[in-house]
Amino acid sequence: MAFEQPYRIVVAGGGTAGWMTAAALVRFLGPGFSIVLVESEAIGTVGVGEATIPQIRLFNAGLGIDENAFIAATQASFKLGIEFVGWTKGGRYMHAFGDVGRDNGGVAFQHSWLRGLAEGVAEPLAAYSLNNAAALSNRMQRGPARTAQMLPEMPYAFHFDAGLYARFLRNYAEARGVTRHEGKIVEVLRGGESGDVTALRLDGDRSIEGDLFIDCTGFRGLLIAETLGVEFEDWSHWLPCDRALAVPSARARDFTPYTRATAHSAGWQWRIPLQHRTGNGIVYSSAHLSDDEAASRLLANLDEPALAEPRALRFTAGKRKAFWQANVIAVGLASGFLEPLESTSIHLIQSAIERILKLLPGRRISDAQRAEYDRQTNLELDRIRDFLILHYWANDRDEPFWHARRETPLPEGLAHKIELWRACGQIVREDADLFSEVAWLQVLAGQGIAAEGYHPLADQPASGQIAEYLDLLAKLTAREVAQMPDHAAFIRQHCAAREDIAA
Ligand SMILES: Cc1cc2nc3c(=O)[nH]c(=O)nc-3n(C[C@H](O)[C@H](O)[C@H](O)COP(=O)(O)OP(=O)(O)OC[C@H]3O[C@@H](n4cnc5c(N)ncnc54)[C@H](O)[C@@H]3O)c2cc1C
Repeated sequence: MAFEQPYRIVVAGGGTAGWMTAAALVRFLGPGFSIVLVESEAIGTVGVGEATIPQIRLFNAGLGIDENAFIAATQASFKLGIEFVGWTKGGRYMHAFGDVGRDNGGVAFQHSWLRGLAEGVAEPLAAYSLNNAAALSNRMQRGPARTAQMLPEMPYAFHFDAGLYARFLRNYAEARGVTRHEGKIVEVLRGGESGDVTALRLDGDRSIEGDLFIDCTGFRGLLIAETLGVEFEDWSHWLPCDRALAVPSARARDFTPYTRATAHSAGWQWRIPLQHRTGNGIVYSSAHLSDDEAASRLLANLDEPALAEPRALRFTAGKRKAFWQANVIAVGLASGFLEPLESTSIHLIQSAIERILKLLPGRRISDAQRAEYDRQTNLELDRIRDFLILHYWANDRDEPFWHARRETPLPEGLAHKIELWRACGQIVREDADLFSEVAWLQVLAGQGIAAEGYHPLADQPASGQIAEYLDLLAKLTAREVAQMPDHAAFIRQHCAAREDIAA
C-alpha cells in the first residue's frame, strides 16, 4: 500500500481499549501510517478491568514488552483461574486455565474421569489440574513442569491495575510515535456521499482529520452509536445484571493467584488481589437488589478495610448490531459489553485489534471487509455469551433472581452443548470459541450438571488400571505443586513493585 500522504488512523478514547489499540497499531504498522489518539481527562475512563486471561501474554509479547517490567509497573499479580463460590448450594469449584488430566490414547480425559466417578475411584477435577491445585495452594511457577515430563506447563494471566496498564501503554505508544491530543470531542464531522467520518472537532476549536476512526469512547459509543446510529442488541434477558459497585481494599494477607467470584442473591462479587491493594466489586441486577443493599453487602464482604467509597457503574449486556460502519470500527466498551464474570473484555479488545490488523483497509473500504469483520466478531461474542449464561442457568439456588435464570430459555447452541454433555460426556469446541473443551468441562461439572454417559473406549482399561491412572495423575500433580514457590515469594523474587509483599 503506497500512499503519498500517510494513512491517518484516529483512535477516539484513551481507556484500556484506546491505548491497547494505539500501542498495537504503532508497533505493527509501518511508516506509511500516522496514529493519533484523542482522550479527555475530564471525562475519564471506566477505571475497572483488572482481571485478564492468558492471551494477554501474547499481546504483551507481540509488543515486545518485558513481562517482569510490566508486572512491576502495573502492580500486577498472577492469575491461574477463577474460583466460583456459592453458584450451587454450598459448592465451590475453579475454572482453572490450562489442561485438566491427560487424554488416554484417543480418549479425552473427561471420559476416564467420568468412568472413575462411576466406579468411585475419581477425585474432583481440581486434583488433576496443575493450575487449580497450584492456585489453591497459593503457589506459582513459570516454564515447564519440573518433576514430570507428562505434566503441562501452567498457562497464566494477570490481575493488574487498569489505570497503570493504560499509562504503561501510553508511554510505550507515545515513545514510538503516537500523537496524543488531550481534549473533549465536541463534534464528529462527516462528509461526502459515503457519510464517512472526516474529522473530530475538539474543544478549543481544534480538529483532527483522519481516514479510519477507531471508536474507543466507552459505553456511549460517540462515533459508532451517537454519530452513525448503529443500534444495540440487548442481551439482558439472558444476562440481567446491569449494575456494579467497585471498591479497592487494603492489600490482602491471603494473596491468592486467582480471581474469586462469589454468588449472592442477585448476582456475584469479585475479589482480585493486586500487589498494592485488592480490587473488589459487586455485580447485580437492579430489579432484584437496591443500590444501598448492594453497597452494604459489598463492604461487609471485604477481607480488609475499604480504601475509597464504592464507585457505581451501569451497563446493559449486549453488543452493537454492527462493529464496523462506514470508516469507523468500534473497539472495547463502545462495541458492546458482556459482564466481567470470565474476564473477557480486555481479551475482546485484543482480538478486535488482531482483526483490524488482518483486515486493514486501504483508502477504499469494501462492504466485504466490513461484513467479514462483523461476522468474526459476532461468532466470538456469541460463544462467550453462551459460556457466561451457563454459569447462571445451571444453578440450584433458591432466590427469585436465580429461579428466573433457570427458567430463561437458552440460546440454541448452548442448549445443544448441555444436552450433548448430559447424554454422553462429549464437549465439542466450535469455531471461534475462546473457551476450550476443558474450560467448558470445568464449568459444566462445577455447576453440577451430571453426564449420564461417557465414551465407550473409556471402558477398555481394566477397572484397577483406571483407578491407578487417575491416582498417578493426581499424585504427579500434587508433587509438582509441592515444589513450587509461594505466589508472594515468586513476585518478590522476580517482579515486585514494592518490597513488602506479604509472605
Ligand atoms: C464492572 C466492570 C468490571 C470489569 N471488569 C473487567 C475485568 O475484570 N476484566 C476485563 O477484561 N474487563 C473488565 N471490564 C471491562 C473493562 O473495564 C473495559 O473493557 C476496558 O476498561 C476498556 O474500556 P474502554 O477503553 O472501552 O472504555 P473507557 O475506559 O470508558 O474509556 C473511554 C475513553 O474515551 C474517552 N472519551 C469518551 N468520550 C469522549 C469525548 N467526548 N472526548 C474525548 N474523549 C472521550 C474517555 O476519556 C476515555 O479515555 C469491566 C467492566 C465493568 C463495567
